Amino acid sequence: MRRLTFVLAACTLAMNQANADLVINGVKSSTSPVTPATTTNYTPVSSFQSCIANLRGKALSSGVTAATFSRYTQNLSPDYSVIEKLNYQPEFSTPIWDYLSGLVDDERVVKGQQMLVQHRDVLQRVAATYGVPAETVVAVWGVESNFGDISGKYPLLQALGTLSCEGRRQSYFQGEFFATLRILQRGDLREEQLVGSWAGAFGHTQFMPSTYEALAVDFDGDGRRDLVSSTTDALASTANFLKRGGWQTGMPWGFEVKVPAGLSIAGESRRNKKALSTWINKGLTRANGTALLQGNLSESTPAGLMAPSGPNGPVFLVFKNFDAIYGYNAAESYALAIAHLSDRLQGAGPFLTAWPTDDAGTSRAERREIQQYLLNKGYDIGAADGLVGDKTRQAIRQEQTRLGLSATGRAGQQILKAFREDSAKQMMQ
Ligand code: CA
Repeated sequence: MRRLTFVLAACTLAMNQANADLVINGVKSSTSPVTPATTTNYTPVSSFQSCIANLRGKALSSGVTAATFSRYTQNLSPDYSVIEKLNYQPEFSTPIWDYLSGLVDDERVVKGQQMLVQHRDVLQRVAATYGVPAETVVAVWGVESNFGDISGKYPLLQALGTLSCEGRRQSYFQGEFFATLRILQRGDLREEQLVGSWAGAFGHTQFMPSTYEALAVDFDGDGRRDLVSSTTDALASTANFLKRGGWQTGMPWGFEVKVPAGLSIAGESRRNKKALSTWINKGLTRANGTALLQGNLSESTPAGLMAPSGPNGPVFLVFKNFDAIYGYNAAESYALAIAHLSDRLQGAGPFLTAWPTDDAGTSRAERREIQQYLLNKGYDIGAADGLVGDKTRQAIRQEQTRLGLSATGRAGQQILKAFREDSAKQMMQ
């Protein structure tokens, strides 16, 4: 039996909002949150047409018919902006509190709660079939595509065809290119529906084409697996992904904990799991002071201690279900965003321990406010969309210098406060 690789590339939304690291089968890359370039500086090293023609044999042996191959490749043109995305190096890495505050904000909690109501019947059937709670499925949906609002604008054949012929990881992307051709051949989706992230993730839940082939399900019974226009299929496929990734029904993903003063947690990690009794014996409690052992957990349940910002920030005990979520995009910060959003959708509040920073992160509404201030000041940063890209960061840096602050370029609470004070001062004048 073929072993499934539970690694997805390219969470469009998370990429855009947090400039998050992207992991494609273990290779880290990063993406620019700026609007895709229409012109490109990348110089191809091979002729695109001859490269694609050379892939024909491999495509045919993967199950693509000759007719499908020629139909979808004869007029295919490259888009080298995807190679620039693949090679993009961020100016600085995003602190986890910035990442989480943009992905799990009140706006997304409220919208997620509306989705839980709107899709209640489907979500109940999904939970009964796959054993994954509605809130977890909706949290993935919210983080992946903002509930279907943002699912990418790159034509998949063009993006994956280009990545198959240039840059790093060509053989990985060739596999995804062939999978895309097989999806079209099967007739589940049309070519114009296959539009997604620059790396080929598409639809409500941003599946890669090979993941789609392995894990997408037809849950609305129309005979087609459609993650683009059927939310029913998309929600069920997400639950199927988590179930196949090892989701344990009735178990938690984990929770925030309180570590006794003086207890070293150096060397602990999500992967380094120990029996829950070990942590009980070390004196850990849940962050609110209650016992670790509750619900379906037992003393032997394997649990890893995860401290994404070190011992002075929020610390979590995580179980197997956290790993199932982690499989969606292979980043702990990403999995924590989904896990936390699922808790918030069940009515929980923010983490009890503050992040170790004097400049906390901002919500998308606050980021839009920062951008509006910059636009009012005449900075050319595009629309106030809450997505912090290089232009917004550069403008913040200039304003920080003008206001006598250190020029970090971060859209955090400190610059928001400074802008609000500056605006108030101008109103008085
Ligand atoms: Ca269907």
